[in-house]
Formats: sequence, C-alpha cells, structure tokens
Amino acid sequence: MQIIENFSLQSYNTFGIEVKAKCFALFRNIKDLSQILEQKKISLDQLFVLGGGSNILFTQDYNGLMLKSAINGIEIIEETNEYVYVKVGGGEIWHNFVLHCVNQNWGGVENLSLIPGTVGAAPIQNIGAYGAELKDTFYEVEILHLDSLIKQTLSKEACKFAYRDSIFKQEYKGKIVILSVTFKLNKIPIVNTSYGDINKELESQKISSPTIQDVSRAVCKIRSSKLPDPNELGNAGSFFKNPIVSDSQFETLKAKYPTIVGYKSGNNLTKLAAGWLIEQCGWKGKRIGDAGVHKNQALVLVNYGKAKGSEIIDLAHKIQDSVKEKFSVDIEPEINIL
Ligand SMILES: Cc1cc2nc3c(=O)[nH]c(=O)nc-3n(C[C@H](O)[C@H](O)[C@H](O)COP(=O)(O)OP(=O)(O)OC[C@H]3O[C@@H](n4cnc5c(N)ncnc54)[C@H](O)[C@@H]3O)c2cc1C
Repeated sequence: MQIIENFSLQSYNTFGIEVKAKCFALFRNIKDLSQILEQKKISLDQLFVLGGGSNILFTQDYNGLMLKSAINGIEIIEETNEYVYVKVGGGEIWHNFVLHCVNQNWGGVENLSLIPGTVGAAPIQNIGAYGAELKDTFYEVEILHLDSLIKQTLSKEACKFAYRDSIFKQEYKGKIVILSVTFKLNKIPIVNTSYGDINKELESQKISSPTIQDVSRAVCKIRSSKLPDPNELGNAGSFFKNPIVSDSQFETLKAKYPTIVGYKSGNNLTKLAAGWLIEQCGWKGKRIGDAGVHKNQALVLVNYGKAKGSEIIDLAHKIQDSVKEKFSVDIEPEINIL
C-alpha cells in the first residue's frame, strides 16, 4: 500500500485550510489497512481516519498517519415486503447513497439529501437535518478496532445515538474505523415534510401529494439557497451545536427576549437555535481577516481564502464568549478540531 509523506490536506477539508499530514494512505478494505499499519507500526494517538473532511477544522499540520476510507459498495443484504436492508461501504459519498435510495424509491434518508461527507462518517455525529436523523434508518454498523484489528458489528442501541452524538464521539473516539453501515429502508415510503421550509417549497411548486423524490429535490433546493457551497467558500456547515437548556431557563430567556427560538427536546428541556443567539450578538456577516461568519447563516463560520485554523478558532471563541455574556448559555462546537 502506498503511504505518501508530507501530504497536503487543503483539498481534503471543506474549510480549505492549508495543512499537511506527515503520512497519508487510502484503504479499500481491511487487508489494505492491516498492511498499512504493519508498514507504519504507529500508536493509536498518531492515527486519524478521514472521510470527506466536511466536519473538521485543522489548526495545525497532522504529525501522524491519516487514513482515508475508499471502501465502496451498496448491496442489498435482505428484503421483506416492507423493508430493504442495504449495506453501504464507509467510503461511499453520503449524497450519492441518498440519491440511489431515492431512485429506487427506498424511503427514509431523503430528508438528509445533500449533506456533504461519507457514509462511514454519518454515524459519528448521527447526522441530522430537516426533521430526520441517521439513527431513524440505521440498522447496524461494522467496525474495526485499530489496536487489535478485530472486526465487530454494533446494533443501533450499542451506538448510543443522541443529538449530534454517538459512542464514536465518546468511548470509541479515535479507536475504530467504520467499515460499512447497514440501513433499514422503507419500501412503502412515508414522506416527512413537517420540518423547516419543506412544505413551503412543495406548496410553491404546487405539489400536494409529495413523493420522496419531491422531498429530496425540495431539500436540495432549500439547502443550496441557504448554505454556502464549500467549493466556493470554505466552511464545515454548522460550526456549533444547538445548546439544550432547561425549560425554566428557556422561560426566563423568553421573558427577556420574546423572539428567542427554541424547540422542545425531551423532558423539561428546550433546544435553542444557536444561529439566533449568535445573530443577536451581532456576528452575522462579520469578518476578521479571512475568517468570518456567513452573511446569511450565523451558525456557519467561513474561510474567505487564506484563514488559518487558529484564526477560525479565535473567532469561534469570541462568539462563544459573547453568547455566554449576553444569554448565559454555553455553545459547543459541533465540528472536530484537530
Ligand atoms: C455545507 C455543509 C453542510 C452540512 N450540513 C450538515 C447537516 O445538515 N447535518 C449534519 O449532521 N452535518 C452537516 N454537515 C457536517 C458534515 O457534512 C457531516 O458531519 C458529515 O457526516 C461528515 O462527513 P465526512 O466524511 O466529511 O467526515 P470527516 O469530516 O472527514 O470526519 C468527521 C469525523 O468522523 C470521523 N470519521 C470519518 N470517517 C470515518 C470512518 N470511516 N470511520 C471512523 N471514523 C470516521 C473522523 O475521524 C472525524 O472525527 C455539513 C457540512 C457542510 C460542509
């Protein structure tokens, strides 16, 4: 297997940050991986598994071995009258998989259209958008432990999925590779148009009985109009998670800021729209050097050209401090900082 030294990661992260990996290698299967690891004999803390680089901010050169998954394949492993179980290689592009499902009329992932990145990374933060999350269609995952090279299959329960969280961001962080993900998709799709602007978009197109194809197209259209395209302006989507506060804290905030945006999130908890909080602190459209806050989406930090990861982090800290000062709320990064 080819291990490349001093490898530029600029086109391997959607922020477009210019950093280098000391070593870089692609793997297509377990055999490739074991050969690479045998050749390099490197400790776990010097290994990093890279997907599409759309949820990462590099703040410095990576002084270890970066492994990029090229495990491909979409395969039906079981089918009933109602469901199809589809196993997908971790290196497949997420949106290509969604389009494949939409074309086959397999329902469940259409609301997650156009999310950048790979299938192998999708369980890491339980990707979510427009009223759907990965966990809704997730069946099981095949992982490889990087220290022992032992393969294991994990059920949905074992993955401990939560809002932008899973076992892979906690106990298993940095210790495993996701080889494949199996999804349970609906052969009799049920459309979910309740969230965000989907209904509005479908109405404007005079679609009264939408199909999953209509929903996927509507989601793509809304996303393209709202979010900056990383090919044109470096970014990693939402930089921060929406903070979750107690209902009583929400009521106190609402009394002071009547237009505050919050959604019920389980027992006695409310999820606040981080974008609203940041916008109220005056950050929308602000720019410090080449690091900035997007002009339409306060939750999205952008690289106008030559920003360093450290400059984006400095900006993020300033935003966190001002949200804390104004609302007494902590906002945490959603993205992985390296
Ligand atoms: C414009 C834009 C819009 C976005 N919108 C959304 C959205 O709506 N909802 C949402 O949830 N996210 C969104 N994101 C974030 C991002 O697309 C997702 O988090 C995506 O799943 C990251 O995939 P990736 O392959 O790029 O992972 P990377 O950024 O390469 O990696 C992310 C993490 O996953 C780990 N990882 C990657 N592949 C594997 C693997 N095979 N095995 C083990 N670990 C692995 C990495 O080590 C890292 O910790 C958006 C990003 C952008 C740029």
